[in-house]
Amino acid sequence: MNEWLIGLPEDQAVFVARVAIAFVVCLGAVIGSFLNVCIYRIPIGQSIGKPRSHCPSCGRMIPWYLNVPVLSWLILRGRCANCKAPISVRYPIIETLTAMLFLMVFQMWGNPAIFGLVRLQEPLLIPVYWAFAATIVVNSAIDIDHGILLDRFSLGAMPIALALSGFFPGMHGESVWTQGLIDSAVGLVGGFAGLWIIGLIGSLVFRKEAMGFGDVKWMGLFGALFGWQACVFILICASLLGAVAGLVLLLSRKAALCSAIPFGPYLGASALIWLFWGPRLLDWYVSLIVPAAL
Ligand SMILES: [Zn+2]
Repeated sequence: MNEWLIGLPEDQAVFVARVAIAFVVCLGAVIGSFLNVCIYRIPIGQSIGKPRSHCPSCGRMIPWYLNVPVLSWLILRGRCANCKAPISVRYPIIETLTAMLFLMVFQMWGNPAIFGLVRLQEPLLIPVYWAFAATIVVNSAIDIDHGILLDRFSLGAMPIALALSGFFPGMHGESVWTQGLIDSAVGLVGGFAGLWIIGLIGSLVFRKEAMGFGDVKWMGLFGALFGWQACVFILICASLLGAVAGLVLLLSRKAALCSAIPFGPYLGASALIWLFWGPRLLDWYVSLIVPAAL
């Protein structure tokens, strides 16, 4: 595929890349629309397949031409076409966010001829990281709504993460499948145990539960996908994000909102930051420390 793209005349290659980008953005928006359904229905035990999308106020089915991601919401100005009940702005936000994440994954793991190869990895990892980003979006939104991180996304994905690490040892910067698997297992145990111990210390110090066990299991998944170093980064980054968000909310006199936001979304956002920029941030950090230590 890459050779074929590189072999094309430049104008054709640019055209192919543009079509691919448009396709990926649309795919991301459509998946985002499906994630909205998952976020709403999974925690309350409804099927994600049936019934088809309907307005929660009047129950009227939403026809496909009024169910186009983002656009429909904009055209209807955030109201149901039938009963005019407001539709949450979160729907188009989730769709836009998912489309952006899909595009970023595609840019970084595909499209080398046009955008310069950022990371030398398998293009086959693109759907893997798409699924990972989608999982983070769903789980974070459910955590905000209900204060739970679902096991099916953390425990359920762990064996997949281990298997992938064996198939694509490059995920861990390795070239042998056994080494990829070992890195993944060490990351899983490290992330799980690390956050569990921190939570345990936190609950002893603050005399209340500092961290949900859902967070611990989720960190195990991040470790299995990215290795233990990523867990250290994700934990520090999530704490910083939480502190910044707390400060902003405090200054805008919305402090009550702050305590309502669980730790899961910060962990998820940090895992995405690691996915896109982590190794480079780590290199930069090491380059700062090493000269200072000499
Ligand atoms: Zn309605």
